Amino acid sequence: MIHRREIHHILEGYARERITIATIGSHTALQILKGARDEGLKNMVICKRGTEEVYRQFGLADELITVENFKQVLEKEFQEGLIERNVILIPHGSFVEYLSPSSIEDELMVPMFGNRMVLDWESNREKEREWMELADLKLPKEFKHPEDIDRLVMVKFPGAKGGKDYFLAWSPDEFERKIEKLKLRDRGEFTIQEYVIGTRFYPHYFYSPLKQRVELLSMDIRYESNIDGISRLSYILQERHPEPSFVVTGNLPVVVRESLLPQVMEMGRSIVNASQELFSPGLIGPFCIETICTEDMEFITFEISARIVAGTNLYINGSPYSQLLYQEPMSTGRRIAREIKNALDENSLDSVLY
Ligand code: ATP
Repeated sequence: MIHRREIHHILEGYARERITIATIGSHTALQILKGARDEGLKNMVICKRGTEEVYRQFGLADELITVENFKQVLEKEFQEGLIERNVILIPHGSFVEYLSPSSIEDELMVPMFGNRMVLDWESNREKEREWMELADLKLPKEFKHPEDIDRLVMVKFPGAKGGKDYFLAWSPDEFERKIEKLKLRDRGEFTIQEYVIGTRFYPHYFYSPLKQRVELLSMDIRYESNIDGISRLSYILQERHPEPSFVVTGNLPVVVRESLLPQVMEMGRSIVNASQELFSPGLIGPFCIETICTEDMEFITFEISARIVAGTNLYINGSPYSQLLYQEPMSTGRRIAREIKNALDENSLDSVLY
C-alpha cells in the first residue's frame, strides 16, 4: 500500500494554478468533466481507443488521451506524464474495476480524490459487513451454511459485476439444484443472504471533510435485467419464469417519502462516523448506501459504494435534493470539483486527496 505521505509529497510539487481533473472515459466521466469545467478547473479524459468520439462530441474535455488498455494508466511513464500535468484522478466504478483495487493501492502514485484506504473496506465482503455493523445499520440476515436456508435467499458471488450470477433459492434443496444447474459450484466462495422484500433506494451522499458535513445530493433505483422485466409478466409467466438475474442496465430517478429522510440522513452520517473509526480519516467525498425499505419503514442495507455511482448521471443538472442545498445545478461530479476548489483555496488539498 502506497503511504499517504508519498502521495502528499508528490502533491507538494504540483502547480496549484494548473491542477487538472482527470478520469477514465466510462461510467460517470462526462459528469466529472462537466463538473470540473463548471468549477473553472482544467480537465482531461483518458479514453480507450474507439471511444474517443463520445467524449469529443460533447466537447467537455480540455484534453483527451487515448490508451489501448486502461491498465496502461498504471505504467510508470504514463503516471509520470499525469503527475507532470498536475493531475488529480477521480475514481469511479469502472475506474476501480479496470485498474483493480490492489493495483490502485500499490501502484498508483497519482493523487486521487478521496481516501484510497476505503477500497479494501468495500471490496472485501467481511470487512464491508464489519463497517456496516459498526455503523449500526440494519443488514439482511446471512446464512453460513446452505442447509440453514429457511426463507427466500439470494446467493452472491464475489466480484459479481452488477449482480451477475446471483441466484435465488427458497430451501437447501433448491440451492443445491441451482448451484449445479447454473454451473456455479466452482465459482468461488459465496454469501447466502436473506432476500429482503421492499422497495429499493440508493441514496447518493457526499461527505465534505472541509465542511465536516454529510450532504444528500440525490437518489436512484437501479433498473435491472431480467428481474425488472419479469415483474411486468409475473402473472403470465407463473411456473415457467426464467431464473431471475440482477444485472444493472440503467437507473431510475426517485425521491423518498419526506418522513423517511431523517433515517436516510442518519445512515449516511453513521457510515461516515464508522469509517473514521475504522480507517482514519475515513470516507471522503461521494458514496452510496444500497438499501431496501420494508413495509415497516425500515431500511435494510446490503452494500456500500464508496465513490461516485452511475445513478448520479440522472442528475447532471442537479436533483430535487441538491437544488435545496445549492443555488446552482450541483451534480456529484461538480460537487467533487467544488471540494477540490475549496481545498485549493484553503490550502488543504491534502485533506481531500490520497
Ligand atoms: P454493484 O457492485 O454494482 O453494486 P453487485 O454485483 O455487488 O453490484 P449488489 O448490488 O449486491 O450486486 O446486488 C445486485 C442487485 O440485487 C441489487 O441492486 C438488488 O436489486 C438485488 N439485491 C442484492 N441484495 C439483495 C437482498 N439482500 N435482498 C433483495 N435484493 C437484493
